[in-house]
Amino acid sequence: MSSRRDFLTNTLAVLAGSSFLTSGARGATLVKGQPVPAGAEMTIRQAIDRIVADIPGAPFAETVDTVKSGNPEQPLKGIVTTMFATDEVITGTIRQGANFIIAHEPTFYNHADETDWLVGDKVYDYKKALLESHGIVVWRFHDYWHSFRPDGILMGVLTAMGWDKYYNAGAPEIVTVPEITLGEIVAMAKKAMGIDKMKMIGDLSAKCQRIVVLPGASGGRRQISVLRKYQPDLLICGELNEWETSEYVRDARYQGQKVSLLVLGHAVSEEPGMEALVPWLNARLPGVPVKHIASGDAFSWV
Ligand SMILES: [Zn+2]
Repeated sequence: MSSRRDFLTNTLAVLAGSSFLTSGARGATLVKGQPVPAGAEMTIRQAIDRIVADIPGAPFAETVDTVKSGNPEQPLKGIVTTMFATDEVITGTIRQGANFIIAHEPTFYNHADETDWLVGDKVYDYKKALLESHGIVVWRFHDYWHSFRPDGILMGVLTAMGWDKYYNAGAPEIVTVPEITLGEIVAMAKKAMGIDKMKMIGDLSAKCQRIVVLPGASGGRRQISVLRKYQPDLLICGELNEWETSEYVRDARYQGQKVSLLVLGHAVSEEPGMEALVPWLNARLPGVPVKHIASGDAFSWV
């Protein structure tokens, strides 16, 4: 952690017992594992430091989890968690009176949120102005949440499906569930995650027990490697490249393998994990209003 946190911790240690540490003192304690006292005024930067303090191995030297917009030194008024800081989510945040968006995915349409290539673009300029005129801070929480143990995003989707009890820390990608048909899993997933339609390879009557769950877009090589490793009945993923994993599954089935595939959609597959972040934050930042605003699926089905 930064020397800044050490400075704060040391400073607070020196101040311990003094009137500076009464409720409402500026500068919340950032001791690892300890919640920030309720009612303590803190900056958004201090909230970020408190969150990161509970992530194993953090802070990371290389990460996309950086502040994308706004000044984090301002006092924290409230937090909104979401998958994507869309214009609509930003507007909802402003209505809530919150000033800190924790988003899982990029804000500016590319993995590293590089913006030099977007300067002068109307869509980008609108969003930038919307954020800046209301002093909204956007921070990405992707690498850190996936690095928490158990992975916060994975546990979100497993809990939504009622499969969290089957989580195995030794093989987190796969759950073994009581026998269930693919059709029943489709119905459960639609209900649990509010999904309208999803892509599938397989037969609805296929019986499944060993299920690999990879929310988000982990990439063809990773998806196929996990299929090779576990030989599951079913792979559930968020997003794939249509020229990679789905073609592998098609050939595997032609060759007699029983593997099925469900593609939930990227946003809907990880949304439960960002919603699950709300109680996680409540435990660490008591007194801070935290709300989840679902960015939802950009697509409709015709
Ligand atoms: Zn993710």
